Amino acid sequence: MPIVEVAISVPLNRTFDYQSDSRVTVGARVKVPFGAKKVIGIVLSNKDKSEFNKLKSVEEILDQAPILDKPILDFLFWAAKYYHHPIGEVVLAAMPKNLRLGKEAKIKKVIGLPIKTSQPDFEITTEQNLAINAILDKQNAFHGFLLHGVTGSGKTEVYLRITQEALNQGKQILVLVPEIGLTPQMISRFESRLNTRVVAIHSQLNETQKLDAYLMAKNGDAGVVLGTRSAIFAPMPKLGMIIIDEEHDGSFKQQSSFRYSARDLSFIRARQADIPLILGTATPSLETLKNSMDGKLTRLTLANRAGDASMPKVSLIDMRSNFDGALSKMLLEKMQQYLSKSKQVMLFINRRGYAPVYFCTECSWKSECDHCNSSMIYHRHINRLKCHHCGDEKMPEQTCPDCGEQSLEVYGYGTERLEETLSSHFPETPIIRIDRDTTRRKKALSQHLEKINSGDPCIIVGTQMLAKGHDFSNLAMVGILDIDGGFLSINFRATEYLAQLLIQVSGRAGRNGKQGEVVIQTRYPDHPMFNYVLSNRYTQFASGLLKQRMSAMMPPFAHQALLCANAKNKQHAEDFLREVAGLLKSIEMNTVEIWGPTANSIEKKADYYYFNLYLQSNNRAALHQMLATFNQHVDTIKLKNKVRWYLDVDPID
Ligand code: ADP
Ligand code: ZN
Ligand code: ZN
Repeated sequence: MPIVEVAISVPLNRTFDYQSDSRVTVGARVKVPFGAKKVIGIVLSNKDKSEFNKLKSVEEILDQAPILDKPILDFLFWAAKYYHHPIGEVVLAAMPKNLRLGKEAKIKKVIGLPIKTSQPDFEITTEQNLAINAILDKQNAFHGFLLHGVTGSGKTEVYLRITQEALNQGKQILVLVPEIGLTPQMISRFESRLNTRVVAIHSQLNETQKLDAYLMAKNGDAGVVLGTRSAIFAPMPKLGMIIIDEEHDGSFKQQSSFRYSARDLSFIRARQADIPLILGTATPSLETLKNSMDGKLTRLTLANRAGDASMPKVSLIDMRSNFDGALSKMLLEKMQQYLSKSKQVMLFINRRGYAPVYFCTECSWKSECDHCNSSMIYHRHINRLKCHHCGDEKMPEQTCPDCGEQSLEVYGYGTERLEETLSSHFPETPIIRIDRDTTRRKKALSQHLEKINSGDPCIIVGTQMLAKGHDFSNLAMVGILDIDGGFLSINFRATEYLAQLLIQVSGRAGRNGKQGEVVIQTRYPDHPMFNYVLSNRYTQFASGLLKQRMSAMMPPFAHQALLCANAKNKQHAEDFLREVAGLLKSIEMNTVEIWGPTANSIEKKADYYYFNLYLQSNNRAALHQMLATFNQHVDTIKLKNKVRWYLDVDPID
């Protein structure tokens, strides 16, 4: 009887053999008994013999044709090996949920070809033309490009033209974008230009839509697949090019279960498919800059804004002498100037809720989460204190739990309080607040964006959801509040991220003709980073950071992995990692450094204590060999069943 090898989504580094009445296509789904349950698995191979006796039988073969074709399976094998993650979990995570649940692989609603497309009424610039030609020159083999273009320089126009060219040759194009906030505008730009089916893959879709999009990518009907990070796994038989927009963005890294970087994996996928890879951004990550310096990426530059737009003027407001609350007088005056000229103004503050601190003015008490090392954030519209880490919430106390006085107050600002304060300063002006609280409803975000795109004067208040990709044509001024936390962070990447964020947020201003203005409020106006941000010299700033990283032998000049353990019992989490450290040190590999265990920067989250063990080496192969050895021996660690643990290869925070 034939035997099939099946990948099942369990946290074990192995596959499972089953008997089958007939051979099964590799990459097809089967329903198999597993313990007391029936589960869906993917067939990885057919064989005649198994090293196990008494095999159970396949219950049902769900597909005649493979769901995962050979190129995707090869790609997933590579990813599972690199991230040292169980193959079954990787393979099943790559499919939409309905396929994991065993639903039929059939398209419900076929989207048609566009009825009408329109072409732009401008000529491309010389810089754009050079970039397009450089990419098209190499379109028939693997080649990596960094498209480094300042915000508003017309990178998307470059994507559209190279995509059209690849479509003309019958190819499919995969475009990855950071987050849902960015997608509606991107989708419509691609849809209105290209005479092909553009399918989107992102979290706002329902499961039926996700399956349809996946299957249209797989059968080649979709010329363009535009998606967030998981779209890197979309099967595309005629894949001819991969574009990663805003490659520096942290959301390309999955931060739970299978912790992969879609940006990093795109190199492997492009190389396996032997096609070009384009990483676009105004603020390249240090990893990408190093790759371009090492010749792994060809750098293409768009140094100027497209059309008649110029870069915004950026200035600082020193908040050390400000006693007016969140908004300095100077900022309010500037806002007034633009609003009176019927322009839009945007304020960016990276905290939602009303106020981040609820405290006693008499003693030092402040409200903290019972389950986490973090303060409770006050939300006024529901009159509740909420923990943004575990989601716990409660009614605010009326009297101080420590001293009994009725002296409790809020301190600091979030988007909700900023909105309230602004409405007292500008009672006539509509205020549009965009954060996770105001966009939870489906469609809410697109309704807000529609209002902004109508161009009527308004004040936009938002969190980092607003930082990326949006192109608001009547937005003349951007105010950035409360970024100083970035200077105090212990993450060694914090200043890199802060510079990227400031430039991205600033890039929203003045896209259309008139020069825009950006104002940053800070208590650290002398920080050297501002010299570069104010004069738009990101590359020089990043080069300086790269030098520091090189002399400190930090990423991207060294490779890291993080082992995180967490448990309700603090000692268990720490001792588990001590034992792991002992095991790792017994592996003779002196090119790998081991640091820790140390408590996580937020030690307790939702009643679990988090500890970290860092591995670092400038020899990637050595690091990975150590991780593989660890994986083989992890079962020998005594506390293994008392903790939850995960491995994060190339961690970013
Ligand atoms: P980026 O993606 O680099 O931020 P976009 O592609 O969104 O930039 O371009 C910014 C704006 O400039 C868009 O409105 C776009 O239509 C316009 N644009 C792009 N290329 C040109 C060009 N060559 N001439 C005039 N306008 C252009
Ligand atoms: Zn008190
Ligand atoms: Zn909490």
